[in-house]
Amino acid sequence: MTILVTGGAGYIGSHAVQRLLRDGVRVVSLDNEFRGHAKAMSLLAAAHPGRLTYVKGDILDSVLVRTLIDTHGIDAVMHFAAHAYVGESVQDPLTYYRNNVTGLGSVLEACEGAKKPVARFVFSSSCSTYGQPPAGMIPVREECPQDPVSPYGRTKLIGEWMLRDFAESRRVAGKPFACTFLRYFNVCGCDRSGLLGEDHAPETHLIPVVLQAALGQRPHVGLFGTDYPTPDGTCIRDYVHVEDLVDAHVRALGAMKDGQVRAYNVGIGKGYSVRQIIEAVRAVTKREIKVVEQARRPGDPPEVFNDPTLVTRELGWKPGMTDLHAIIDSAWRWMVTHPKGYAG
Ligand code: UDP
Repeated sequence: MTILVTGGAGYIGSHAVQRLLRDGVRVVSLDNEFRGHAKAMSLLAAAHPGRLTYVKGDILDSVLVRTLIDTHGIDAVMHFAAHAYVGESVQDPLTYYRNNVTGLGSVLEACEGAKKPVARFVFSSSCSTYGQPPAGMIPVREECPQDPVSPYGRTKLIGEWMLRDFAESRRVAGKPFACTFLRYFNVCGCDRSGLLGEDHAPETHLIPVVLQAALGQRPHVGLFGTDYPTPDGTCIRDYVHVEDLVDAHVRALGAMKDGQVRAYNVGIGKGYSVRQIIEAVRAVTKREIKVVEQARRPGDPPEVFNDPTLVTRELGWKPGMTDLHAIIDSAWRWMVTHPKGYAG
């Protein structure tokens, strides 16, 4: 089996590539290196000789994607390549629509146009597609109405629609296309072998931001909003370890049936507030962390965490790491040993 991983040099994509290589799968990884790291690919290629092909290129280049599919006889696609910052998507929505919506369309055109069309697809969706779930629908199940409150969430929901429409057209044409949407909650932590980490510039995700403050790389952490209708006034999220998340991808691919479209939430099923995360980082790192309370960040829903019943029942997925301190510790270890990220 050979899998095309788009965005394979990024944070989640590289962890997926690592898992697939460990499973003995051949991988073609495509990344434009906007936020991905060629170094992550060279480390993985060295650890798994002969099974990883890495190509620097853009998903918007449909001809390139189709050529990769044809050349390598791709059996399935895991599509990670996307922009994924809620705040940035509010400031620069067009970039999000171009990469996340047009980019997906470009990959699907390549899948359809290939000599042997790709008929298996795992799509990185997001709990952002739910927006703020209505009262009584938290923890969130897959049937919760999808009503995103940020451009990022909307691009992911449009991606799901595009894939459903595409799968339906393939079904009618007698060429079934199976697709699974994994709606990620807040992905965090790092490869516990210490090879791969999280290295974003700029970094905006909560856990790495707080870790950077602990490391002295930022003077403080801005706490975005303290007046939310939650017990301590700060937003509640579900933090899932990246290795558990990629395990859901492998399971999704294994469970796929011809022409079937499925959607699963991937989160551990427990919510933590921003203040709780900061406290947990203090406990793990034993460092001072200065917090500056700030205004709410546009596009942030107050409370979102998962009900993992469906993903557990149908894919047999359960988070291996549910201890918040252990999850944070995996990220902290990489950051301490790689204070400049992949650059050193
Ligand atoms: N957050 C914060 N300060 C930061 C980064 C994030 O207070 O420097 C908050 C953010 O407003 C949200 C939560 O932490 O309530 C998680 O944000 P993140 O960007 O990590 O993930 P998101 O839920 O937006 O995908």
